[in-house]
Amino acid sequence: MSEFKHIETQAIRTQNGKASYREHSAPIYMTSSFTFEDAEQARALFADEIDGNIYTRFSNPNNSEFIEKLCLLEETADGVPTASGMAAMFSSMAALLESGDHVLSSRSIFGSTHQIFTQIFPKWGIEHTYADINNPSDWEAKIKPNTKMIFAETPSNPGLDLIDLEWLGQLAEKHGLILNIDNCFATPILQQPSKFGAHLITHSATKFIDGQGRTIGGAILGRQDLIDKVRFFIRHTGPSLSPFNGWLLSKSLETLPLRMSKHCENAKKIAEYLEGHEELESVKYPFLKSHPQYELAKKQMKYGGGLITFIVKGGLERGKRFLNSLNMLSFTANLGDSRTIATHPTSTTHSKLSEEDRQAVGISPGLIRISVGLENVNDILEDIVNALNASK
Ligand SMILES: *Cc1c(COP(=O)(O)O)cnc(C)c1O
Repeated sequence: MSEFKHIETQAIRTQNGKASYREHSAPIYMTSSFTFEDAEQARALFADEIDGNIYTRFSNPNNSEFIEKLCLLEETADGVPTASGMAAMFSSMAALLESGDHVLSSRSIFGSTHQIFTQIFPKWGIEHTYADINNPSDWEAKIKPNTKMIFAETPSNPGLDLIDLEWLGQLAEKHGLILNIDNCFATPILQQPSKFGAHLITHSATKFIDGQGRTIGGAILGRQDLIDKVRFFIRHTGPSLSPFNGWLLSKSLETLPLRMSKHCENAKKIAEYLEGHEELESVKYPFLKSHPQYELAKKQMKYGGGLITFIVKGGLERGKRFLNSLNMLSFTANLGDSRTIATHPTSTTHSKLSEEDRQAVGISPGLIRISVGLENVNDILEDIVNALNASK
């Protein structure tokens, strides 16, 4: 619980106590370890009888401040910061799953999460089954006696398909499974999976949380008993966040509510403008009425998100020409930045997949993903429209 009522205030005013220098902005605690007052305090700290910092792999004031804010935003009991989003995905599962366990996962997940399921977990006897995000009736029959966790992302990347979190929460509840949601795309500003029964919420803080493309980071938030196990795992295996990055990410959270509303406002305007453009086959954005899950998006998301996709006429080659014709938009493999970023999944991030596998996760050859930034919306639109015309 916070002494402040509203998330904007919580994100700004939640801060560690002042040091003796009376600083206003939080200092960075770049220290590997913390000193003990005496032998008794050291003993009590190691025995978990009192709270306090011992060693930065376990905890650090900057990281604690970052997590305290994120827990307020996600309305979770506790959380642990991690060195990257993938450290969060991996640790949230490796800490809780055992050899012989099974995970039911959406097929539309981040590429490295897919590598964990297919290349790494099989070595330790942890199996998975994929279910189709667009076919909820596909899910329940895939739950097995050894299923322990359900994992999903919504909206998905780059398909921008949604899964009904309320329905998924009920499914997990009915079968006594841990529901783990990667909330990186929506952020807690747009949706709070804990309200729908998610037990774990995982984040890549690299994206909208940092929001300026400066660092890699992540977080795992959720139910106390689960986070206790995750904390033990991270403390002893070491995918911990650097205090500098914890400081940066805690500062970033101060502007997350404001940034998200602007990302989404720009994205919606661009999606609305581009819909029906003669050089495009289609435009997809959760808050466009033409999105197949528009009603669901309105139900579970506050805004439509910072990402839009469209399919250019002319397929693969046109997609490449479009990217080469952009002037202002960045061509880089990231998203959730103050700068607008364009990517072409078929020739880059998803080029190793077969055409069939790409279709299964909603990627056609001419698909372009735009992570809409905070520039003036007219400048973003002008660059996109010019590139569409120049790449004919
Ligand atoms: C980027 C991303 C990740 C991985 O995060 P890193 O910080 O790059 O390790 C996981 N899930 C989603 C949805 C992402 O976009």
